[in-house]
Amino acid sequence: MKSASGLLYRNGGFIEAHVVLKNGTPVIGEGLLENAEITGIILPMPINCHTHLGDAFIKRPERATVEELVAPPDGLKHRMLAAVDPEEQITAMMGAIDSMASTGISHYIDFREGGLEGARRLLLASRASGINPVIFGRPLEGYVPEEMDALLKVVDGIGMSAVSDMEFQELDAISDNAKKAGKGFAIHASETVRENPDEYLELKPNLLVHMVKADSDDLIACSAAGIPIVVCPRANAFFGLKPDIKKMLDANITVCLGTDNAMLASPDMFAEMKSLAGDFGLAKEDVFSIVFENGRKVLNSLPGLWMASSQDYLVLESSLNDPWGSVIEAKPGNICLFDTEHVSSEWRE
Ligand SMILES: [Zn+2]
Repeated sequence: MKSASGLLYRNGGFIEAHVVLKNGTPVIGEGLLENAEITGIILPMPINCHTHLGDAFIKRPERATVEELVAPPDGLKHRMLAAVDPEEQITAMMGAIDSMASTGISHYIDFREGGLEGARRLLLASRASGINPVIFGRPLEGYVPEEMDALLKVVDGIGMSAVSDMEFQELDAISDNAKKAGKGFAIHASETVRENPDEYLELKPNLLVHMVKADSDDLIACSAAGIPIVVCPRANAFFGLKPDIKKMLDANITVCLGTDNAMLASPDMFAEMKSLAGDFGLAKEDVFSIVFENGRKVLNSLPGLWMASSQDYLVLESSLNDPWGSVIEAKPGNICLFDTEHVSSEWRE
């Protein structure tokens, strides 16, 4: 696609606009354009703010608890990660990345287990994909300075399991090391049980994931510390969990969206948005800012990263009668992408 015309989502509403590809870059103009290739809704490409693509090779289980499935070191996922053939894992990750690319995701923040080798496999899988991985790696076990130094040369940040899963001193040392290297630190928090905010906030994370069991005081503390939260409604629903997203927004937290474990939910942000729009009592404006604005805001806030991606757009081929509804009901087959070879190629410091 080289041109599109219709309604552009911007600053919480829609305006008539068109996009034309100039020197490989989509350029926005005001008003409709006759003879545009596609008519539809022009959207900023979403950022998938939380994935674990490394488990894309694992078949979705019928049911399991968080403990049985994903808790380190003995959850099913971690046993399978330890045993998987690298080629099989990389191929499955490539499939997940391709599906994100085809649905217009420009960046994804992946919690990549498996130390340096884990990060290497994701880099191999993401080569030539045309979309940008933001790799939050994880050391193999505890805090080993030499391993951390090597890992931090490769990854964009460190993404840990939870304060309940590791000695606090080790997590603190890992966080400290990431900060000193100018990289981000993120951690899951209060997913199945309420964890003490004094602990996870003490780690000075750039990003918290889940916060399903956080109470109002915890959310206020998180808001005061200026820490965004990634919510993953479909993965939470698999475990019978439901975050109170309204309460997070009421506490003035920047909430963004991710798809979490690839074995549980496809990395499809439109499917995730549909779940967000359906079950949480949110205003449509909130849903749109979570999906199309906050992800970029959060990515921009991570240390060492910046985005030259204000020109990353996709177009949803649809009538212009009900843009809010059309976006929430979007089907992958209606998503059109501009003929750029890649998006945001120069965006790391
Ligand atoms: Zn996760």
